[in-house]
Amino acid sequence: MSNKTSTHNPFTGESIKTYNLHTDVQVESMLQLANDVSKTWRQKPIKERSKLLNKVAKILSDNLETYSELMTAEMGKPIAQSRSEIEKCIFLCDFYRKNADSFLADQIIETDAKESFISYDPLGTILAVMPWNYPFWQVMRFAIPTLTAGNTALLKHASNVTGCALIIEELFEKAGYPKGCFQTLLVNHDQVEQILSDDRVKAVSLTGSEKAGRKIAEIAGRNLKKAVLELGGNNACVVLGDANLEAYLDIMVNARMQNTGQSCIAAKRFIVEASIYDEFLEKFTKKVKSLKHGDPTDDQTDFSVLARADLADILEDQVERSLKKGAKVHFGNERKKAYYQPTIITNVTPNMPIFDEETFGPVAAIIKVKDKAEAYEMVANTRFGLGTMIFTEDFEDATAHVSEIEDGAFFINELVKSDPRLPFGGTKASGYGRELSEEGIMEFVNKKTVYIN
Ligand code: NAP
Repeated sequence: MSNKTSTHNPFTGESIKTYNLHTDVQVESMLQLANDVSKTWRQKPIKERSKLLNKVAKILSDNLETYSELMTAEMGKPIAQSRSEIEKCIFLCDFYRKNADSFLADQIIETDAKESFISYDPLGTILAVMPWNYPFWQVMRFAIPTLTAGNTALLKHASNVTGCALIIEELFEKAGYPKGCFQTLLVNHDQVEQILSDDRVKAVSLTGSEKAGRKIAEIAGRNLKKAVLELGGNNACVVLGDANLEAYLDIMVNARMQNTGQSCIAAKRFIVEASIYDEFLEKFTKKVKSLKHGDPTDDQTDFSVLARADLADILEDQVERSLKKGAKVHFGNERKKAYYQPTIITNVTPNMPIFDEETFGPVAAIIKVKDKAEAYEMVANTRFGLGTMIFTEDFEDATAHVSEIEDGAFFINELVKSDPRLPFGGTKASGYGRELSEEGIMEFVNKKTVYIN
C-alpha cells in the first residue's frame, strides 16, 4: 500500500501536491497528544472555549478567498459556492458561540434528592472521517460543537482534499486552540481501523457513503464506541399539481444541480403529478439548459466538473443501466472525463438504478405519477432516509403528511438544506445520529446523572 497521497485539480487535470501519509509512530504520538490535551481542555470553562469561536470566525472571514480557491482547486466546486460554504461556517461559529453555554448548562431535575441534575461532560478524543463534497462545512459542523463541548478531535479527511484538511488544522491552531485539540491525520483505511480501535479514541463521526458507514459502524460496534453516521441519500422532490412553478422552479433546479449535483441531500428523484407534468418538464428543462457551465474559478459558473473522473464513471453506469430498463434521455447525458452534463432522464420507475441508488452528480430522474397518493408511495419507496421536499400550495395537507415521512427532514416549498439552528441527519441507510443545533452538540457528551442526598 502506498505511503503517499496526492491531490489533483479535476478541471485542469493537473496534479496539485503529493503528501506523505503519517507513519504509525507519528499516529501514536498524535493520539497521545490528543489524549493529553483533552485532560486540560475539558477543564476550561465553557465560556473560555466558546470565546475562541470568534477567532475561528475571524480567520475564516480573513481567509475567505484563499480557502475558497483551495476547495475549488481540489474538488472543482464553482468559486461562488465555495465562498458561500465558508460564509456558512462563519454562521455556524456564531450560532454555537451564542448558544453552547446554555445547551451545556447543568439541567436541574427535581427528584427525592436534595439536589439532582444532569451534567454534560465531554467524552474525550473523537475521530471524524469526512467526505470531500463540502470540504470545510462537513468538518466544521462536526468540529465546532464537538470542540466547544470540551472534546478533542482527530480528522481523517477524504484523500482528494488533503490541502483543505491541513489548512483547517492550521486554522484551529491560529485561533488559539491548544496544540493537539484538533489534528489532521493523513492515513489510509487500515490505519483508520487501528485508530478507532484504540482506547484513547472514544467515539466516531463519519460523513460519507453507505459502504464506508457500514465499515466504520462495524469497527465502532466491535469496540463498543458511539458512532454518528451521516450517509448517502436519495431524496424525493415531489411536485404536486398545485405547485407554484413560477415561485419555486429555481429552487427545484438548485436542489439537484448545486455543488454540481454532489450533495447527499440533493433532490435525486423528481416525483411529478400528471396534471402538471408537461409544464414542469418544459420549464425545468429550460432552466437546466440555461445553467452556465465551465471553469469553476469563474464567478459566473453555476456548474462545473465532478470532483473526480471515476465519479462520472459511476454516474454514467447508473444512467446506462437505467436506459436499458426503459428510461429515456430527455436532455443532456454528454460526458467527458470528470465533466458530466446536467442531465434529465424521464420514464423513470422503481427498480431502475437511478431510482433505487444514490446518484452523486447532475442527473435528475423524473417520475410521473397519477396522483398525490401515488406520489407519497414513491417517496417512501427507498432504502434511504435523509429528506423529502414537496412543492404544493396546500400547506395544510402537506403538514398532515409529516408523520408519514420516515426521513430525517421534510421541507415544504423549499429544498432540503442544513441550518446550524436545526438538527440534521438521516434514518434507514442514510445513517443515525444528528448534527447541528442543540441535538448535535449533545452527541459527544456524557449525560451524567448527579444525585446529592
Ligand atoms: P466515501 O468514499 O465514503 O468517503 C468518505 C470518507 O470515508 C473519506 O474520508 C474516505 O477516505 C473514508 N473512507 C471510505 N471508506 C473507508 C474505510 N473502509 N475505512 C476508513 N475510511 C474510509 O464518500 P465520499 O465519496 O467522500 O462522499 C460521498 C458520499 O458521502 C455520498 O454517499 C454522500 O451522500 C455522502 N454524504 C453524506 C452527507 C450527510 O450529511 N448525510 C453529507 C455529505 C456526503 P478516502 O478518501 O481516503 O477513501
